[in-house]
Amino acid sequence: MNHFDYRDGEFYCEGVRLADIAETVGTPVYVYSSATLERHYDVFKNAFAPREVLVAFAVKANANLAVLATLARKGAGADTVSAGEIERALRAGVPASRIIFSGVGKTEDELAFAVGAGVHQINVESIAELETLSRCAAALGAKPAIAIRVNPDVGAGGHEKISTGKGDAKFGVSIDQALALYRRAHADPHLAAKGLAVHIGSQIKDLAPLEAAFGVLRGMAERLRGDGVSIERLDLGGGLGVPYFHEPDPPSPAEYAAMVLRVFDGFDVSLAFEPGRMIAGNAGVLLARVIRLQERPGRPILVLDAGMNDLIRPAIYDAYHDIKPLKQAQSAPPKAYDVVGPICETGDTFTRNRSLPELRPGDLVAFLTAGAYGAVMASTYNARALAPEVLVRGDRYEIVRRRWTLEDQLALERTPDWLERT
Ligand SMILES: *Cc1c(COP(=O)(O)O)cnc(C)c1O
Repeated sequence: MNHFDYRDGEFYCEGVRLADIAETVGTPVYVYSSATLERHYDVFKNAFAPREVLVAFAVKANANLAVLATLARKGAGADTVSAGEIERALRAGVPASRIIFSGVGKTEDELAFAVGAGVHQINVESIAELETLSRCAAALGAKPAIAIRVNPDVGAGGHEKISTGKGDAKFGVSIDQALALYRRAHADPHLAAKGLAVHIGSQIKDLAPLEAAFGVLRGMAERLRGDGVSIERLDLGGGLGVPYFHEPDPPSPAEYAAMVLRVFDGFDVSLAFEPGRMIAGNAGVLLARVIRLQERPGRPILVLDAGMNDLIRPAIYDAYHDIKPLKQAQSAPPKAYDVVGPICETGDTFTRNRSLPELRPGDLVAFLTAGAYGAVMASTYNARALAPEVLVRGDRYEIVRRRWTLEDQLALERTPDWLERT
């Protein structure tokens, strides 16, 4: 459920008419709903009750400070993959005690920063990283809490496949390596070995591979405990899909939580989750204006003022985003369009042969499900301004990131002396 809907023929976010934002702030512009962010957090968190779990929002899905602060006020933690994301989470009011630091390529400086900040947990992905972290911790006189990220070797496709043999997966740390690494961390005086972590993918629409992965983690934790090695935490990652309107609905948070509670029934361990898309995806839209209608044999092309630099998911993932006109169509029959942006790339095509209500130059549209992996992946390609971000709460809204203009871009650049005109 989200808080974007038509009211008297106009598309609203909560109590705000989206056309008002488009006209005042300009297009393209990202708009987020506080109520949807909060609702998704609550639905996810409460689905596990009475079990207390840490819900660490994956900052990479939407790193806007106001979005993070909205979730922080609800008690959310943050899953981060760089020092920059840790800094953002801290500045948004997420306490360090709820920040998880993940990622395959943490530099030594970033590890030192995370240790210094006293984050809740560092998810270690290799033996080399463990060694670097141990050295950092020793130098800083700290004892960071760590988890080992396991690649549970869960096969993709309809049927799950669990390999309990030698870890030979292409990515991450195999089960055997993870057990060995955990024991090693446990014996390291500079590290506090706390748990195991998994994150098996994104936009997962089937509970079976997740259930298989979580079963592997439980089995590993039981084995460690059986050998007298303590383990307190399991981090189950993110990955729960969101409905993108044309696809079958992914499992609901309630179904997901019921599965998790079943897998860990009677098992005393702290659980953490790292949902990104599930929290923010349907909490945001990208507003754009039709610049031009290009008639041609076959279908007309609708050229928008938003491009792949603003929303790259269709170009790189063939992602589907529902498109809604801000003014609800009257009775005219829908028409088929190709919808493109202004960028000089064939890839700058949002969709082909999409049936939409009739649209004209100047009309406003919203791309739905743009709250995750939208603004964070935007660029200034073609010397375009970075779209601003707006946060709605009830009948109020605020620009939470202003448009990053050409002047902002140029301010970072300089011409070397030898090119200065004399
Ligand atoms: C990307 C990522 C997430 C979030 O994934 P979603 O599909 O948005 O839930 C969580 N944890 C890690 C380690 C990630 O890389």
